[in-house]
Amino acid sequence: MSVRLWRRSAVALLSCLALAAPLPAAAQPALDAELAATRETVRFVPDDATRRLQAMEPAARKAPVATRAEFFYLYSIALRRQGELRRALALADELVAYGRQVRDDGAIAKGMLARTYSLYSLNNLPASHLACFEAEGRAANTRDMSLRVLTMLTAGQCRQEQGNYPAALAKLQAAVDAARGVKNDRLPLAGALNALAVLYTALQQYDKGWEVQAESLALARTLPSPGRLAIALNTEYGLAISSGDYVRARRALLDELAVERRLGARQMVAGTLGNLSDCYLKERDYARAASYAQQAVAAASAVKNTLYIATARINLGQAYINLGRLAEGKRQFEAGLAVYEKNGNKPELQSVLSEYGPALERAGDFAGAIDAYHRERRISVELFAAQRQKDVLELQQKYDTEKNQRQMEALRQENRVKSAELDNRRLQQRIWWLLAVVFALAAVIVGLLYRKVRHANAQLQVKNLELAQQSARDPLTGLYNRRHFQEFMRAHTQTDSTPAGALFLLDVDHFKQVNDTYGHAAGDMVLKMIAENLRVTLRETDMIVRWGGEEFLAFLPAVPRGGLEEVARRILHGISAQVLDHQGQSLRVNVSVGFAPFPLAPGGTPLSWERAVNLVDMALYLAKGNGRNRAYGLRGFANPSAETLLAVEKNLEHAWRAGFVDLAVVEGEAAPAAAPAAATQA
Ligand code: GH3
Ligand code: MG
Ligand code: MG
Repeated sequence: MSVRLWRRSAVALLSCLALAAPLPAAAQPALDAELAATRETVRFVPDDATRRLQAMEPAARKAPVATRAEFFYLYSIALRRQGELRRALALADELVAYGRQVRDDGAIAKGMLARTYSLYSLNNLPASHLACFEAEGRAANTRDMSLRVLTMLTAGQCRQEQGNYPAALAKLQAAVDAARGVKNDRLPLAGALNALAVLYTALQQYDKGWEVQAESLALARTLPSPGRLAIALNTEYGLAISSGDYVRARRALLDELAVERRLGARQMVAGTLGNLSDCYLKERDYARAASYAQQAVAAASAVKNTLYIATARINLGQAYINLGRLAEGKRQFEAGLAVYEKNGNKPELQSVLSEYGPALERAGDFAGAIDAYHRERRISVELFAAQRQKDVLELQQKYDTEKNQRQMEALRQENRVKSAELDNRRLQQRIWWLLAVVFALAAVIVGLLYRKVRHANAQLQVKNLELAQQSARDPLTGLYNRRHFQEFMRAHTQTDSTPAGALFLLDVDHFKQVNDTYGHAAGDMVLKMIAENLRVTLRETDMIVRWGGEEFLAFLPAVPRGGLEEVARRILHGISAQVLDHQGQSLRVNVSVGFAPFPLAPGGTPLSWERAVNLVDMALYLAKGNGRNRAYGLRGFANPSAETLLAVEKNLEHAWRAGFVDLAVVEGEAAPAAAPAAATQA
């Protein structure tokens, strides 16, 4: 049972070290002195310490922070040492809350340390460790070196409990180094060395363990603290029994027992007696083992420590069984087991049962041995199941966490997709707006362009009209030109045979002489005069055309048939009557004219306008040939056959003489006496 006691002694160590904290500032000298005195009592006689602390409570609760924190801290430890774990924890929590309220890291650190010890005893290791690590952090903010070393070494022990040995070793070595720096107080170093020796024992690094233990024990012997020596001796026992040196282990225990008895530390005495019985069991000295176990039962009963009683009874049972007192042994063993079962401490129960079976087997109680094996198996299975359940729960938790994370990730993803969609929609909207603006702008531009084009078209139309006008007119006289007439005739081809209009063709007589005599400009003046004269003589609806150089054509769309000769006469006279003044000289001209009704339809079928103009031209040349200043016009055909027409077109004069065609002759007036050479030459 040495392992169980070993662990318990570690707890004892914690609380003893806790007392190593130095006195707070002496704001309350009397109260502080009383607390310091109680600190020695609380180590080994917690019931007595509790009574004294209760008496101090009203004053302590009104004391300054440091005193108050020390009071709560000691009170919590005293209660824990008496097994009042819940009250111990409540006091620790009160201290933490108070420390937070007054923002005092020292107070919080002590509260957290008290929490660490209480939670350890309540078997809540994870919470105990958390409290310890916070205590260490808070203490690091203070200048209390002893408190800092204490929290460091406690943190190292927590790492050890977590199975994190490298971290534990590093922390404890650091604690030892830090403790060596605390010059006025050797207790922190004693605590740190002891914890380091315990760790080396657990690591089975016995050489290093013994090395540290030598320094630790030597230091403990120099300290004015029997409790410290007892702790060091307990560590010596653990180291010795672990390394199989039972003699050295027993010697350490006997020394420890003596110290504890001198101190009156009855709880510790009960534990040490139990360890002694355990030690003799290992040495197979069952008689002595039984004797110490009996003493341990009595001592533990006296201090009402049920766990110590149970452990002592199991040791006693083992001793009896080995001594052949089977029934007695089994009774003691079962009594011890019952306590473990009641506590529900399955791992301890399993460990004890695993020693119970072989002991019974050795004593020849095979049925009992088998029963013990079965019980051990059952608990083992239960433990395994519990462990498995724990593993499953952890796995489940891990899975749930991962699932949550996955769900969160999925949500995040969904969110991302949604916001991307939103962005997309916004973008689309923006594009639509842009398009709308672009369309609106385009519409405005197109509208403007359209207006511009329409304006340009209108201008073009005006220009075209002007151009058409220009292309239709003769620039000198302003009359229609020959091309315009041709186009007009092509467009208005007469199909109606009924003659309604007439064609007149004029040619200026001896015009060449006008040019030669008076110059080209005078000639132009004559041409303009003739044009003007024709405009006056003819109707507005008649089409007057400059047919060639000094030739004019007039198309009269509607004229009475018998009125053609009269028109010819008017033309002849109108022109010849005009007297032009050229540089002081009078100038007159006359013209020769050919005319015919139009359309011409000799056989009922109208001739083309070209053939008609050709016939009028022939008539004009007849007029030229017959003295000029006269007009010859076709009046009708005597026998309008194709041959007749051909004969007429071949030679009008012959056809006229032959009587195929009837011509009208209109003579111009004789030139007046003052007529110019051009006119008088005729
Ligand atoms: P005829 O009596 O036989 O018709 O004799 P003519 O001199 O009038 O005939 P001809 O054909 O020999 O001469 C016509 C002249 O008209 C020749 C030409 O120089 C002139 N002429 C033609 N067009 C113009 C013009 O626009 N202005 C001027 N001043 N003279 C022109
Ligand atoms: Mg001519
Ligand atoms: Mg002429």
